[in-house]
Amino acid sequence: MSTLDRYYNYIGGAWTGADTWRVIHDPATDAPYAEIAEASIADADAAMAAARRCVASGELSAVRPAQRVTWLLAIADQIRALTDEAALVLCRENGKSLEVARGEFIEAARYFEYYAGMADKIEGVSIPLGDGYLDFTSYEPLGVSVQIVPWNFPPSICARSLAPALAAGNAVVIKSPEVSPLAMTFLMTACERAGLPKGAVNLLCGTGSVVGAHLVQHPDTNQIVFTGSVPTGQRILRDAAERATPSVMELGGKSAAIVHADADIEQVIDSVKAGIFFNAGQVCSALSRLLVHRSRFNEVIERARVLAEGLSIGPGVDNPDLTPLVSREQLDQVEGMCRRAIQAGATCLTGGERVSGTRGYFMQPTLFTDVAVDSEIFQQEVFGPVLVIHPFDTEDEAVELANGTQFGLVAGVFDSQLDRALRTARRLRGGQVFINEWFAGGVETPFGGVGLSGFGREKGQEALYSYVQTRNIAIRVKGA
Ligand code: NAD
Repeated sequence: MSTLDRYYNYIGGAWTGADTWRVIHDPATDAPYAEIAEASIADADAAMAAARRCVASGELSAVRPAQRVTWLLAIADQIRALTDEAALVLCRENGKSLEVARGEFIEAARYFEYYAGMADKIEGVSIPLGDGYLDFTSYEPLGVSVQIVPWNFPPSICARSLAPALAAGNAVVIKSPEVSPLAMTFLMTACERAGLPKGAVNLLCGTGSVVGAHLVQHPDTNQIVFTGSVPTGQRILRDAAERATPSVMELGGKSAAIVHADADIEQVIDSVKAGIFFNAGQVCSALSRLLVHRSRFNEVIERARVLAEGLSIGPGVDNPDLTPLVSREQLDQVEGMCRRAIQAGATCLTGGERVSGTRGYFMQPTLFTDVAVDSEIFQQEVFGPVLVIHPFDTEDEAVELANGTQFGLVAGVFDSQLDRALRTARRLRGGQVFINEWFAGGVETPFGGVGLSGFGREKGQEALYSYVQTRNIAIRVKGA
C-alpha cells in the first residue's frame, strides 16, 4: 500500500477508488507527490448513467431557476473556503506558483458567481405572427455535457465550462487531465458541500484515448466541451460527427502582439513578462510572437533580454517569476523545439535549454530573433517560456505576419495612438485583441478562437448560450 496521499473520482455523489492508481510527480523536484484513482470504462459508464438520471429527474432543470442561483453561489463560497488547501495541492502537482494557483481558485469562484447572476435570467422572446397566433422561444438545457480539461489551468478551465452548464440546468461529466488532476477534486468537494443533486457533476481521472474517447462517443452525451491541443480536438470532432454532437472547441494558439513605433515600451515589457513567462508560458493565449516596428526593435530586444535574464526561477511554493514546466515530456518538447530553431538558423538571445543541476522540469526563459516566418518556431505553439521577436516596417506587413499562422486565438497591439491601435486591432485574426495590456479582460469577456484555435466562445454572457438549445413554440389560438 502506497504512503502517498490519495485522491478519488467523484461519481453520482460518491467518491470512488480504483484498481489502478496514477502517481503524480512534483514538477519542481520530480518526486512522487500523490496518487489518484485511474477511472475505467465502467466508471465512465457509471458517471454517464448518474448524469442521465439527474437529467431525467428534473432535479436541476425543472427547479425554479432561483434554486440554481443559490447552488452556484454556495459553490463559489465553498471554493473560496477551500482555496488555501486546494492552491497548495495545485502548486505541488502542476509546478505553478502558489500565488497563481490561489488566483486560479479565486477565478473559479468568480465563474460560479458570474453565472449565478445569469441562471434566473435565461429568457426567451415572444415573436409576433399576427392575429390568431402566439409564438415564443425558450432556452432548454442540452442534457449531459461532457467536458474535457487540459493540464495548464485545470480548476479555472473546469469552472469556466461547469458553471454556465449548471446555470443552464445541464448535468456534467468532467474528464480531468492525466498530468494534473488532483486540485480539480476540490471543485467536486465544493459542489458536494453546496448540496448539488447527486449526478449533477461527476469527475473522472482517466486516460484521454480511453476514458475521454469513450465519453465523447457515448450515446448519452449531448454536448462536448473540449479544451486542449489541436490534434486531440480534431480527433474528438471526428468522433463527435458520428452522432452530430454539438461541440465547443477551445484549442491552441500562436498569438502575436504588434508594437507600433509610438508604443509605451514599459507597457510592452510588462506584457511580455505576463504574456510569455506567467505559468512558464503554458498558456493557450500566451504572447509567443512579438512583432516590433524596426525603429524600436533594438531597444525592445535589449529590454526583453534584461527582463528574461533577471527573472527568478524556482519551485512554485516560493512564488518565483518562472516556475517549472508541468512534466518531463513537456520540458523535452519545449527544449526540442528550441534546439530545432537554432539548427534552422535562429539567433537565441538568451536561454534555449533546460536549467541544469536540478531534477525539476525547469526551462530557461528564452528569446529568439532572426527567425524565418515559415519556420516551426514562428508557426507552431511551443507552450513554454519561449518568445520570438521579429521586426516589421509597415502596418500592413505587421498585420500579415500576425495573421500568418493557422491559429487565431488572441492578438495584441501596443501603440499610444489609439486610432491606429484600433484600426490594427480590427484587422487582426482572433477571438479577442488586447490593446496596451496583454490578458486584459476577465470572466466577463468572451474568449475563443478562429481557425485551428477552435470555435465557440467561453466566458462572458455569450458563453451561456453554448449550453442551451432554443425551442420555439407556435400556437394557433383562434379557430380557422
Ligand atoms: P491534450 O489535447 O493533450 O489533452 C487535453 C485533454 O484531452 C486531456 O484531458 C486528455 O486526456 C484528453 N484527451 C486526449 N485524447 C483524447 C481523446 N481521443 N478523446 C477525448 N479526450 C482526449 O492537451 P494538453 O496537452 O492537456 O493541453 C495543452 C493544449 O491545450 C495546448 O495546445 C493549449 O493551447 C490548449 N489549451 C487551450 C485553451 C483554450 O481555452 N483555447 C486553454 C488551455 C489550453
